Amino acid sequence: MKGKNHVVTVPQMGTMSILVEDWMKRLGIDFLPPSPLNNKMIEVGASVSPEFACFPLKATIASIMNSADNGADIALMVGGYGPCRFGYYGEVYKAILKENGYDKKIRICTLEPMTSGEGLLNDLQKFFGPLIELSSKSKPTIYWHLTRSFKKAVCMDKIESMLLSIRAKEKYRGDTQKKYDEAVGLLRSAKNDKELAKYQEEAVDVMNSVELDSNRKTFKIGVVGEFYVVLEPFINMNIERLLNELGIEIERAIYITDWTGPKNAEKVAGINNFDAHKLAKPWIDGWCGGDCTANVGHAIHYINEGIDGIIHLYPFGCMPDIMALEALEIITAEAQTPFLSIQIDEKTGQAGIVTRLQAFTNIVRKETEKIWHAI
Ligand code: SF4
Repeated sequence: MKGKNHVVTVPQMGTMSILVEDWMKRLGIDFLPPSPLNNKMIEVGASVSPEFACFPLKATIASIMNSADNGADIALMVGGYGPCRFGYYGEVYKAILKENGYDKKIRICTLEPMTSGEGLLNDLQKFFGPLIELSSKSKPTIYWHLTRSFKKAVCMDKIESMLLSIRAKEKYRGDTQKKYDEAVGLLRSAKNDKELAKYQEEAVDVMNSVELDSNRKTFKIGVVGEFYVVLEPFINMNIERLLNELGIEIERAIYITDWTGPKNAEKVAGINNFDAHKLAKPWIDGWCGGDCTANVGHAIHYINEGIDGIIHLYPFGCMPDIMALEALEIITAEAQTPFLSIQIDEKTGQAGIVTRLQAFTNIVRKETEKIWHAI
């Protein structure tokens, strides 16, 4: 990788590219943000991928190929482990790129998770090695900049969690989104920790300046599911915006920094994955890959907190979340909590999703009002 000015990218997934762009800039590495996903890209991704590959692989390979066409020559990704197909993504990407003549344009560079069991030094080398080559900077320097970019991303996630609640109560449609864009712009422009602390306060004030409709009765729904479909709005048909517009506030189980950060760290919202696994233990004793066990735990936590309903999103071909679904159906039925599970693939249309959400929110409304009247 040395001796050439490389252009790095990442597959499109929610606000992930903002975090990585900030990190790459600090390391002096050129970064190309991935284009927003569109139907044409998804068609391409589906046509080059194995038919039974999980849907996120089809979307992310499409994003990588699109970025290669736009000038990126290195796609960064984090490695996976455990009983989930994510661990094979890197190798499958490479095979697809080769088959389609893209291996000369772009190469996959995997930052392996630090869980190989081959010792910390070995793990550190595997994670930082590619970036040391790209930036010619030392491990401590790369790590230091990662922590700064991560801190900024946590602030952005917190602002996003405000968006998911405030937008359901806004007086004028579209106001919260505008304020959110303004708040994110502020945070992105922070050049150091001092500026970040200042802009974070300002960003919170910006979000709190949205005029609310005091007559609007809102309900609260917990959204759990496979990380990619939950975090990428194009893939989930912007389900969170649709729910907010129906007067539903959202508690989301995972944000970008929850997914990329340590699993026992404090979460942007709700409980961390260790605690979620403890809650899920009577149902799933162990880790069955992906977000399966954590999703069950997060759903139980939401029910304990008195949530009005739960939505579960998962992609076609996702084995871990099919297992989670079995437990979620029983848990929500026993708790009499309205539950909707939506499987998403490249053929899913927004019209069908809207109809199901409208029906579901009507059920939530009726069930919740029944409880209110009984109190
Ligand atoms: S969690 Fe499911 S959809 Fe996501 S990579 Fe793993 S198997 Fe595929």
